[in-house]
Amino acid sequence: MDKASAKNKPTFVEKGLLIIGLGFMGGSLAKGLRKQGFDKPIYGLDINPQAIKKGIELGVINQGWDNYEKVPWEEIDFVILASPVGTFEKIAQKLKDKITPQTTVSDLGSTKRLVYRMEEILGPRFVGAHPIAGTEKSGVEYSIDNLYEGKKLIITPTSETDKNHLQRVVNLWKFLKTEIEFMSPELHDYIFGVVSHLPHAVAFALVDTLRAMSNEKIDLFKYPGAGFKDFTRIAASDPVMWRDIFIANKDNMLKAIDHFKRSLETLENLIKEEKIEELKEYLNEISILRRNLD
Ligand code: NAD
Repeated sequence: MDKASAKNKPTFVEKGLLIIGLGFMGGSLAKGLRKQGFDKPIYGLDINPQAIKKGIELGVINQGWDNYEKVPWEEIDFVILASPVGTFEKIAQKLKDKITPQTTVSDLGSTKRLVYRMEEILGPRFVGAHPIAGTEKSGVEYSIDNLYEGKKLIITPTSETDKNHLQRVVNLWKFLKTEIEFMSPELHDYIFGVVSHLPHAVAFALVDTLRAMSNEKIDLFKYPGAGFKDFTRIAASDPVMWRDIFIANKDNMLKAIDHFKRSLETLENLIKEEKIEELKEYLNEISILRRNLD
């Protein structure tokens, strides 16, 4: 084996990798691994048989099932949960007696304090992870092979996390060329409650405002231009996925919504009282902050 291919050899799976929930994120993981030269079998397990059928047809997975009883568990030493976060606990209950202690279990979920519950069920072999990459599209048919490349990947180890399993998860994400960052599950949920979950809530609410302000004389949905469409693209996201995220991160969501209401009130008051200079100053400050983001 030459040096270059030895460097690219996966060091996280000996037998095979199972993705539970073969949608956009799970499919993109499988495609990304193949793109980087991953040469072990990739399996899929999904409650929707169509997802498995499509995954096989598109060459995303080698084999797949819609039933735990059909899975050859002895062929699998790495499991990744890629279904909505509200399904994780039940999946962990089903997995716990089927996999060995040597099998690493990780996830792609958008909220991370559920790691503690997963550890209670699966023990220290569970390692929480969250790729900061995605889209509003759902389903394996939209998956892409470079989704994770160069993107941030958060790992949320706890004092219980087994070091070997942690290393295997790190190796997987290094293999996919992500930029890995470690943080506690609590800090993760606080940060992403504000920078990701709140914007999704606001986008859903903004589309709802159009619905509420339309009437029999005027259908506001006929008029949105690029600004409205850019702003609300993420409101076309999967409702089950976002319901689960909002509920799993409820306390941070409520805090963020409260702060957002206060920001809207500031703007409301400046407009109501026609404080022309202050309004310009306020908009100027925010505009600079936003421009500095890019
Ligand atoms: P998706 O809707 O494209 O795919 C989810 C898949 O899970 C579907 O095929 C569905 O049939 C399957 N599924 C549902 N319940 C299941 C169960 N009980 N057992 C097995 N399979 C089940 O969703 P996605 O965008 O791929 O998101 C998957 C995960 O990734 C979620 O946990 C989400 O929080 C996380 N995530 C998503 C994004 C994003 O932008 N889409 C970004 C980061 C993290």
